[in-house]
This record gives sequence, C-alpha cells and structure tokens, in this order.
Amino acid sequence: MPIAAPSRRFVDDARCIVSGDVDPPASIVIVEDDPGIGPSLVRTLTAQGYRAVLATTATEADALIDDSTRLAILDLGLPDEDGLDLCRRLRAGLPDLQILVLTARGEEADMVLGLDAGADDYLVKPFRLAELLARVRVCVRRGTNDSTGRSCGAVTVDAATRAVRAGGEVVDVRPKEFDLLWKLITNSHRVVPRDELIDDVWDENWFGSTKTLDIHIWALRQKLDRPGEPSCITTVRGVGYRMGPP
Ligand code: CA
Repeated sequence: MPIAAPSRRFVDDARCIVSGDVDPPASIVIVEDDPGIGPSLVRTLTAQGYRAVLATTATEADALIDDSTRLAILDLGLPDEDGLDLCRRLRAGLPDLQILVLTARGEEADMVLGLDAGADDYLVKPFRLAELLARVRVCVRRGTNDSTGRSCGAVTVDAATRAVRAGGEVVDVRPKEFDLLWKLITNSHRVVPRDELIDDVWDENWFGSTKTLDIHIWALRQKLDRPGEPSCITTVRGVGYRMGPP
C-alpha cells in the first residue's frame, strides 16, 4: 500500500494514477513555457515510467506541485513570475521537494542564484537528454522520503497516526479538522483557494454552506494558536487560507 493514505484523496484525479504497486511511480512536475521543450519532456519522462505533468506558468505550477511531488523541473524564465521567486517559495513550503533548475541563463552568477534560491541541481539549455535523465534519476532517488510527518512553525502533523501537536503538546482535532489541516500544511508554499479546500476536504458534490469551512478554520485556530502570537493559519481575503503566520 502506498503511504500517506490521508493525502491520497487530496491529489487531483489527473495525477492520481494509483497503480496499486508497492512503489508508486515518482511524480514529476515540469514547469516550462517553451512549447518546443515542455510537452516532449513530459512524453520522455512518462516513457521512462515517471508520472510527469506540465505546468506552463508559475500559477499552474502552484496548483500542480504539492507534497506528493518528488521533483520539480523548473525553467527560470516564466511568463507570470520570476522562476527564482517560485523556486524560493517552493523550497520554503516543501522542504522535501527536489528542484532541478533548467534554464537558458548559462551565466555562472545565475547558476549561483538558482542554487541560493534552493535548487538542488542545475542544467543549462541546450542540454543533452541523456544528461537530463541522469540528473532526474539522481534527484528522484535523493528525494525519496517515507516520512508522513509535516510541520509548520509550532504545529506538527503526522498523517500515519493522525496525531497533531502544537508547541509539542498533543491537540485533539476532529476528522474534518484534521483533513483541512493536512491539506493546508502539505500546501504551505501557497494560498489554498476556498473552493479547493471545500472540494478536497468535504467533496465535490457538497452543497453545504461555505461557512462550514470558516467554522473549521476557527476551531483549528482555537486549538493550535498560542495567546499573543500570530495565528498559524493566515486568511487571504477573497481567496482562501495559507498555513503559516502572515
Ligand atoms: Ca521560458
């Protein structure tokens, strides 16, 4: 059985190809806006047995990359955000993610900036496919992580035991509160939109009031926040919620 059963349901259907194998294929997100590179990389990596999907913007990358992603192959020149900024955000929110930067910027200074921004490896375009595949194999191997624990600030969550701690103290949370917290903490690099939270934590056919979401967030804050300190969950008005202080 694949691990992290609670998170399985949060994976988009498109990416949720559960083979039933003991070892599910590593999930790779290619972030590349060049139509001459992205789609062919997806085909090549899929043919190699990986689960590969393409994001052509930083916004798409944010929606596709999560805790279940093993490797992000990241072009630095993206249409909607500097790839270095995306790299920093991913590194801050997903410490176990492997990041392979792929870019036309061959200058040594850019290479250093990429590594400083949290990239694990760096490949300059044009590159040989064999070299890219070799780097991907290393990154995927390095990124293998069986841990089911996640933490953000003083909050730690273990998906295997469904244990939640705040400042080291065990906190009792109800099942939906746990699912909501797990969704937020495994996506702590981004704001998770309200609709996505409702779809994933309740279900797509749920017609209840969206107030239910706010009530569950309120309950989590009551249980996890410490007096006099910023909340562990930030409200982004009109959008959704992000794990972490403002
Ligand atoms: Ca580009």
